[in-house]
Amino acid sequence: MRLIDDDVKSRFFRKFTITDDCWTWNAALNSHGYGIMRIDGKTVLATHISLAVFEFQYKEYDWQCALHSCDNTKCVNPSHLRWGTQKENARDRLDRNRQSRMYGESNGRSKLTYDDVVEIKRLHSEDVKVKDLADCYNVNKSTIYKILHRELWSEV
Ligand SMILES: [Zn+2]
Repeated sequence: MRLIDDDVKSRFFRKFTITDDCWTWNAALNSHGYGIMRIDGKTVLATHISLAVFEFQYKEYDWQCALHSCDNTKCVNPSHLRWGTQKENARDRLDRNRQSRMYGESNGRSKLTYDDVVEIKRLHSEDVKVKDLADCYNVNKSTIYKILHRELWSEV
């Protein structure tokens, strides 16, 4: 396992802009909008590099998540980041989805979008309970079950 070395550090420090609050990544992003950088032919999340550089505790890249306290996927400010488990990561996303749905849909209708269904499946694969998913998306548990068993939205 390779440690973060000076070369990686100097490349890392050239790839973001420090503003008052967030440090915004200016370089490549993955499909989810998170900063990425290549190290030895591997694609590594910029948030992981940030935590490794600033905490001096390099961790195996794949077994943990870097969680944001701000809501900015491009942010690599180590004071906005902490290590967490996959499960905490899923939990955080669930809370954010719940909030954005509360503010976004005042009419209380429970129509799901394609993106919702993708997210529901992913959250479920990360051990989020059906009940919590139903609460978050304001649908019946049976709707969630049907999605998971491909009786609904089987094309997703
Ligand atoms: Zn931030």
